[in-house]
Amino acid sequence: MFELKDKVAIITGARRGMGRTHALILAKAGAKVVVSDISLEECQKVVEEIKAQGGNAIAVKCDVTKREEVDEMVKKAVKEFGKIDVLVNNAGILQFKPFMELTEEDWNKILNVNLLGYFRCAQAAVKEMIKQKSGTIVNIASIGMGQTGVGFPAISHYCASKGAIVAMTEAMALELAPFNIRVNAIAPGAIDTPMSQGGDPKTMEATLARIPLHRIGKPEEVSNLVLFLASDASSYITGSTVIIDGGWLAT
Ligand code: NAP
Repeated sequence: MFELKDKVAIITGARRGMGRTHALILAKAGAKVVVSDISLEECQKVVEEIKAQGGNAIAVKCDVTKREEVDEMVKKAVKEFGKIDVLVNNAGILQFKPFMELTEEDWNKILNVNLLGYFRCAQAAVKEMIKQKSGTIVNIASIGMGQTGVGFPAISHYCASKGAIVAMTEAMALELAPFNIRVNAIAPGAIDTPMSQGGDPKTMEATLARIPLHRIGKPEEVSNLVLFLASDASSYITGSTVIIDGGWLAT
């Protein structure tokens, strides 16, 4: 049931971090993978890794803030593999800045990638999924999404983008269920990627102290959840946000 044989999956922001491991793990499960990110050269390296493990993938340059590149990514996926079954909206950016110092430019930059980027990619992919009356979309949010009992200072615009992703996921799930398209979100806690390595070591120590499993998550652990939500193993799950945080929110 976790198999993705003959399925086609697009992963955004897949040159490094969790996007890279999503691409590798979905390919291992049999998916034909479209590895997309801003740098084509870097995507090509991930494609080589996938091919080395016996998988099938192509690299496509796509900056999710550019509608024409998003449309081109979907076009290339369909041209190469004939359809799109899975979209993993993963490309994201983070900026640490106190609320009172934030500018409209900061807000627009974060929302343009983290929220509108997901919207653009989903709208383009759903046009194809509707034709075949099936598909799954996995939107990567964060436990910074709000209403969890845990708040994160100095990233209010990032948290707002992640909360909006969860709200958008629910609305999309309702609208797309008649087309047999499932839409879910994942809310990771602290995961070991270049994004989380950019923080202050003291903050990381304090974070670890709050995590019952007392370690930061591995990107592959999130990718396994992506695989579950992308596959038929989760066939009755839509409109949900699944938390993966080592027990952080249970404290
Ligand atoms: P990461 O290592 O920084 O990877 C993010 C990827 O997205 C990078 O390859 C980046 O490319 C790409 N990207 C940035 N802007 C883009 C754009 N406009 N178009 C296309 N690609 C773009 O971060 P990560 O930790 O793997 O994060 C993956 C997702 O998980 C994000 O949505 C993040 O918010 C979320 N998340 C992460 C954590 C965590 O602890 N790491 C926790 C909760 C949620 P460049 O490197 O070229 O900029």
